Amino acid sequence: MKRACDVCGTEYEARRPASRYCSPKCRKRASRRVKAGEPVAQVVELPAANAGVGELEQATLEELDKVGRSGTALAKATLLLARGIDNAPAESGSSAAARFREWQAMLAKATAGTGVEKSALDRAKDQLAERRARRSQRGA
Ligand SMILES: [Zn+2]
Repeated sequence: MKRACDVCGTEYEARRPASRYCSPKCRKRASRRVKAGEPVAQVVELPAANAGVGELEQATLEELDKVGRSGTALAKATLLLARGIDNAPAESGSSAAARFREWQAMLAKATAGTGVEKSALDRAKDQLAERRARRSQRGA
């Protein structure tokens, strides 16, 4: 679950719903502010573009952002493909698998030459998406 840190506003992955700070440093800063009688939270607006984004699209965006390629035309096409996969749970299995392969190839092209290793988290997301694609293929 993505949320913005109450102290510094940085977007981070919250492990628990009650999580409020991005780091122990911000937690400490918040408790110092409470002691000093200052307001802890600041109002932070998250980018509207992230509202309602599916998990594959989100993972794709993070991947592209990480290598600084999120602004290219190829990146946009890759994101559109990911959105199509996220939003099409009822489509026929073979076309879901084909779309997934297309997305993988497109993402590889969009990030080509950046020399950035995939993080364990991204690999996990890829596996999840692959499992989902295979599951819908079996159902066809
Ligand atoms: Zn913070």
